[in-house]
Amino acid sequence: MNCTAIVLAAGQGKRMNSKIQKQFITLKEKPILYYSLACFQESPEIQNIVLVTGKESIDFCRREIVEAYGFSKVKKIVPGGKERYDSVHQGLLACGDCSYVFIHDGARPFITQEILARALKTVKEYKACVVGMPSKDTVKIADENQMIAETPKRSLVWTIQTPQVFSYPLIRAAYDKARKDNMESITDDAMVAELYGNVKIPLIEGSYENIKITTPEDLLIAEKILEKRMK
Ligand code: C5P
Repeated sequence: MNCTAIVLAAGQGKRMNSKIQKQFITLKEKPILYYSLACFQESPEIQNIVLVTGKESIDFCRREIVEAYGFSKVKKIVPGGKERYDSVHQGLLACGDCSYVFIHDGARPFITQEILARALKTVKEYKACVVGMPSKDTVKIADENQMIAETPKRSLVWTIQTPQVFSYPLIRAAYDKARKDNMESITDDAMVAELYGNVKIPLIEGSYENIKITTPEDLLIAEKILEKRMK
């Protein structure tokens, strides 16, 4: 059995309003991207890492992150694409043969070994699984006029995180098929597996700390989480 992590760091991060792309902003003197790469590097479950980043950031990532911190499992650094699903597809094409693939947002620094182990155990049984948490808030579905159209039962609502973990042949075939269609409405990998992979996907618990750094206030929360972990 052989597991690869695809770590995505090719986004522009426009909602961060920062000159530096968000995955390279430093948290306690290390780039945000460092933290998830470190978790995969230390994981006994993961053999290889494919890092996907902007074409213009490949040299920076190799020198300042992969070599600087000794991430020896990063075997490839490949250019991403315009949308997240383009970047994922590039990552999948670069994976080579493997049993399972962990697709992870480089902007989520707080994954843990427990989350990775839980995901691997589940994917072995179901061929796919997605990390998330039960929603703390009531969620409303709006119509086009921003009027409430629906209120899903809160106990059934989860907010989705990464990693999303799949049998490699399953997700590779699903993405290869999906690429031939319009992927505009695709916002995560589970959607591709559901639509094109014909698979029922279990949700497993990540953690409420497994936030995605998206807007400036997320950086304040991230600093606090990191301080707690460093104690
Ligand atoms: O933009 P968003 O925060 O949803 O991005 C989630 C993750 O996907 C980030 O780690 C980002 O760098 C990555 N991404 C990517 N290629 C894109 C868009 C996003 O690798 N075209």
